[in-house]
Amino acid sequence: MTSCNLCGSHHAHLLFANDADTMSPPEGIVQCANCGLVYDNLHVSNPTIIPQYENRKYDHLSQDWIDGRQAVFQCYRNLLTTFQKQNRILDVGAGHGFFLAMCQEMGWECHGIEPSNECRRFAADRFHIELGSHVLEDVKYKDGYFDVVTFFNVLDQLPDPTSALREASRILRPGGAVIIRCANARFHVPVKKTFLALSTISQKIRNFDQTVFHLYAFDKRTIARMLTEANFNNVTVFPGTLSWTASHDSPIGSLKKLLTPLIGVLTGSVYRLTLGNILLTPSLTVVATIPMPGKN
Ligand SMILES: [Zn+2]
Repeated sequence: MTSCNLCGSHHAHLLFANDADTMSPPEGIVQCANCGLVYDNLHVSNPTIIPQYENRKYDHLSQDWIDGRQAVFQCYRNLLTTFQKQNRILDVGAGHGFFLAMCQEMGWECHGIEPSNECRRFAADRFHIELGSHVLEDVKYKDGYFDVVTFFNVLDQLPDPTSALREASRILRPGGAVIIRCANARFHVPVKKTFLALSTISQKIRNFDQTVFHLYAFDKRTIARMLTEANFNNVTVFPGTLSWTASHDSPIGSLKKLLTPLIGVLTGSVYRLTLGNILLTPSLTVVATIPMPGKN
């Protein structure tokens, strides 16, 4: 069994087996018995996973999809100004470049990494942004080069997120920030379990399961610990802006559009009513900074 990326423990219990028809082989999603990190116990390395992303086809660039992403990115753009000093930003897993295009308009010097050949071509043609294809740890940016490094729905797809965050902390200046958007295990694990239980009644119910599991699933506690161990401080975790988009062929497209705001309001209310102690929203936004010299 794979050891835990956060604490190194080999003790984990199975939450549920992966679907046989996903990109992952039918291994299991487990939870570390020591630190609580949720992860796929199949060992995946960059050389294995990168080709899958390089050749991935994105056929859902509808206006609806673009509008959904833009709405999410607008919120993250508003977080940037606090950290704008050297004027350099790196978006890891930059996709089609929509977020960097916004940053470009704000005057940032934009850098991005994206394994998908199709996405890199799109960003170059549409926005004149040249994205790199390397793994973050292999690029060797200078120490303290960036004000901000972003991982939007990316960290949970990396084989070694601890290593990626350590590299992000090295290339950020003191006072610079990492901004992360990721799925929240505290939402997706119980919802997945519910769908699996219901699917014993009818297999059709599984079509409505929109839960997200890649190689990892973080919650407030595990992402904060991983960031702290990667030399970040001032870790803030709060509800992430939700995206209502679904792919063309999803039977749930319209339903998801209706339900997403409702889930957002419900889980957001729980968050506020518990003064930030219970964070059940489907998505998390995480901001953490590099300590200034002489401060902790
Ligand atoms: Zn662990």
